Amino acid sequence: MLRDTGALRDGHFEYTNGLHSNEYLQVPLAMRYYQHARMLSVGLSRLLRDNPEIRAIIPELSIVTPANAGLPVAYGVCEALRARQVYWAERDESGQPMRFRQFLEQQPGEQVVLVDDLLRTGRNLREMQTLLESRGARVVGLAVIVYQPNPRTVDFGELPLYYLARLNASYYADAARCDLCKQGVPVQKVRV
Ligand SMILES: [Zn+2]
Repeated sequence: MLRDTGALRDGHFEYTNGLHSNEYLQVPLAMRYYQHARMLSVGLSRLLRDNPEIRAIIPELSIVTPANAGLPVAYGVCEALRARQVYWAERDESGQPMRFRQFLEQQPGEQVVLVDDLLRTGRNLREMQTLLESRGARVVGLAVIVYQPNPRTVDFGELPLYYLARLNASYYADAARCDLCKQGVPVQKVRV
């Protein structure tokens, strides 16, 4: 499905952090088709429901995401689980810290599943985890459509991580060490 919708692309890509890779994934290209979005969200919700500790707290559970690509995933998972609420954090500008909308407050001990379309570096998800915990919430799991780890991916330790697919692309630290650059394959810079 990811290939059919153009979400998963083969080629030669340069990420914003300088890594070169032979694969690129843009999950929103798959999420634009409602039936695909629904199938992916329901699949992810079933993985979460299979965890007895998470299943026991579903009625109280918050589904929280970094905007924007995580939003359709978060709403889909919340609907499928019948969890309590969805909300998100965002940045006013690139380089600024993430924050929640004004007047949004966590309840003491609020339990949260962090959701996104993709876990690649995990930088945003880690920032959200830190932000939520600083406000008294407890993150009980991570759920993403695709887990695409690379050499710079954050280690979330014992936190349960759920995903529908794991992609293992080839990564090169920079152009000088990239096999595709050496072969003269044209490179495409990606924005996110
Ligand atoms: Zn390259």
